[in-house]
Amino acid sequence: MNKIAKIFETLEYGPAPESAQPALDWIKAHDGVFGHFINGAWTKPGKTFSSDNPATGESLAQVSDGSAEDVDKAVKAARAAFKSWSALSGYERAKYLYAIARLVQKHSRLFAVLESLDNGKPIRESRDIDIPLVARHFYHHAGWAQHRDREFPGAVPYGVCGQIIPWNFPLLMLAWKIAPALAAGNTVVLKPAEFTSLTALLFAEICEKAGLPKGVVNIVTGFGETGQAIVAHPDIDKIAFTGSTDVGKAIRAATAGTGKGLSLELGGKSPYIVFEDADIDSAIEGLVDAIWFNQGQVCCAGSRLLVQESIEERFIRKLKLRMSKLRVGDPLDKAIDIGALVAPVQVERVRELMQRGVEEGGSVYEPDIDLPAGGCFLKPALITDVSPANTVVAEEIFGPVLVAMSFRTPEEAVALANNTRYGLAATIWSENINLALDIAPKIKAGVVWINGTNNFDAAVGFGGYKESGFGREGGKEGMGVYLKPAWEKDLKPAPAAKASPAKPANPLDASQGIDQTAKMYIGGKQARPDSGYSRPVFGPAGNLVGEAGEGNRKDIRNAVEAARAALGWGTSSAHNRAQILYFLAENLQYRRAEFAARIKEQTGEKGEAEVDAAIERLFAFAGWADKYDGAVHNPPLRAIAAAMVEPIGVLAILAPQARPLLGSVALLAPALAMGNPVVLVPSEKSPLSMTDFYQVLETSDVPSGVVNIVTGDSAVLAKTLAEHDGIDAIWCVGDAATSTMVEKASVGNLKQTWTSRGLNYDLSDTEKFDGDYFLRRATQVKNVWVPYGA
Ligand code: ADP
Repeated sequence: MNKIAKIFETLEYGPAPESAQPALDWIKAHDGVFGHFINGAWTKPGKTFSSDNPATGESLAQVSDGSAEDVDKAVKAARAAFKSWSALSGYERAKYLYAIARLVQKHSRLFAVLESLDNGKPIRESRDIDIPLVARHFYHHAGWAQHRDREFPGAVPYGVCGQIIPWNFPLLMLAWKIAPALAAGNTVVLKPAEFTSLTALLFAEICEKAGLPKGVVNIVTGFGETGQAIVAHPDIDKIAFTGSTDVGKAIRAATAGTGKGLSLELGGKSPYIVFEDADIDSAIEGLVDAIWFNQGQVCCAGSRLLVQESIEERFIRKLKLRMSKLRVGDPLDKAIDIGALVAPVQVERVRELMQRGVEEGGSVYEPDIDLPAGGCFLKPALITDVSPANTVVAEEIFGPVLVAMSFRTPEEAVALANNTRYGLAATIWSENINLALDIAPKIKAGVVWINGTNNFDAAVGFGGYKESGFGREGGKEGMGVYLKPAWEKDLKPAPAAKASPAKPANPLDASQGIDQTAKMYIGGKQARPDSGYSRPVFGPAGNLVGEAGEGNRKDIRNAVEAARAALGWGTSSAHNRAQILYFLAENLQYRRAEFAARIKEQTGEKGEAEVDAAIERLFAFAGWADKYDGAVHNPPLRAIAAAMVEPIGVLAILAPQARPLLGSVALLAPALAMGNPVVLVPSEKSPLSMTDFYQVLETSDVPSGVVNIVTGDSAVLAKTLAEHDGIDAIWCVGDAATSTMVEKASVGNLKQTWTSRGLNYDLSDTEKFDGDYFLRRATQVKNVWVPYGA
């Protein structure tokens, strides 16, 4: 048989190799060794390490291991460049971003080949997905640069941003970090991951070619220690990190109390839900993309298949057949599906986790297909016979391994999908649009794809819920994390609070003449403090004006439980929430005189103005409740992305000591308007305005559990709240030490935090605080991708 006849007979693929030569030539032009790119110039290579080709194990180039001094030099260059870069007009910055986009496009094949060589991903992906998305990101953000001032009035860039990225999408993650930072007017020091530095270095050359002013972009290569040096550098204003949840938590702890801005895009274990009425063949193709795209080394990989029991057997059979047709091979071969994992250590890690899966009772299926000899290759794998508690179901594997479970009802699918500490993405397959759109809002994830998967676009925010991190990349939300209000830079330390008079030595003395101790307010009922103790409340002259309960850990536990039971507040209609906030305002108005007198009693100040301000604030956020909402994006794909503004969850609030009523209401109102149930610790010194507020809550139709109030020692209760896994976000007005403690203690479940760090945030300032400042912090955006149009 001649060759052509044989090909027809077997229908085997022939090799379709892309040449590595242009990328190898580029490396050779640098003598195979790279320094850092600092202040627009290349440093002399210092101590170096090898960047290897994972498909062959061969060294591609030597890359410098950045020291703390290198980082310092880069930060100094970025700081020096910041002044003039941030002073450029938006149009000027836009032109640079546009030039970068054009140059990335012009050299896209070189980028794609270099990326596949260094990372092991199939050229099909780097050529058709990674690099085009990089160019799109710079184009899109050129526009944001120009329109920044109109779209973000009163906002200024942070300054110098430290950016640390992983190895799974080396150039794309760089683009996601650098494009918005530069568009907003920041300068950057970026560290690529140690396995994949080369395209970042090629990008540095693009910056040179684009004539970007020196010091605006600095690239320092190195390992985790180099990343640590960036995080620890005192002259960095904001850290943006993408990588593992463990390192993300370490960075959260390291930045606590520093005032550095922080955005984290971390791990995931995203559910891929297939209902019985799904188009099964499409769902299988989607699944191939969800879990075997980039060898499964994708933070939002659809790595947990949840398939309806009625179609489970058929679906798994078809899936196995499809897996047996996947081709694993040379990343530079245009006809392969799966390339090499990034490094031997990752292969080991994936194997160990799979072994763990087997030990815990899972059954592993790997198709009988060829693997290239040598290199970091793994077969696609499917693990069945697993349950939610299994390691392979709970842990991110970050490799080509899918775990599969079944469900019976949509409710069960939602429960399984949300049974994870992560919340990055989710996929839903169903031909029933009603079902799909009913499930989407119930999934706790930053991105939901309906009848599709792994759609990304620069105009659509991407980022996680829960331990998948906070902050968004892409879209308007993504720009928002690189900007802050101009006035924040000028905040002065808060005036020192007057010390409370000492507690009487004999607790019995405190109670003289007072016949009523204010209780806690938990789950819509007044509750005695668990401790059985109360604390005296003194007026300005040291006179006893009342007593409040001494809240403890158990009161907090009960309050959090009640708040979690009230999470339905977030799905009640915004109109309904607005009505209730208006009603609160109205009922406070009825009791104006009484509340004013109580304020005077505690602080000595005339209280009417504060009550009026609190009423106005309730009105303001009643007004916002049904207006601060999302957008519909039109990405260049056959889909729309509905950017839904959702509450974060249970919010803990530590109110300021001053302004016993307004201080609490100013924080409570935006949290409630956006649908978050709250556990509030009112002013420690003057808690009685908020314990009086129970009656206003009770007469205003606020559902039980939506507002819970625990009085007591603010710092002690702050710690308990920050450590509690049932709290999703925490706002704390407090001194620097308490703020630092709150940020550190919130690491456990990566709460979103806002702290005043001892600075004078004057919450009575209407201009600053009756708008989006707290609304933004009370919400997170979920992007729901829906097929749309032909
Ligand atoms: P992955 O699991 O994706 O490899 P890592 O979180 O380990 O993710 O790495 C992501 C990036 O964070 C890399 O650039 C790595 O060098 C860097 N890194 C690792 N450890 C630290 C650390 N302690 N502080 C700062 N950066 C770190």
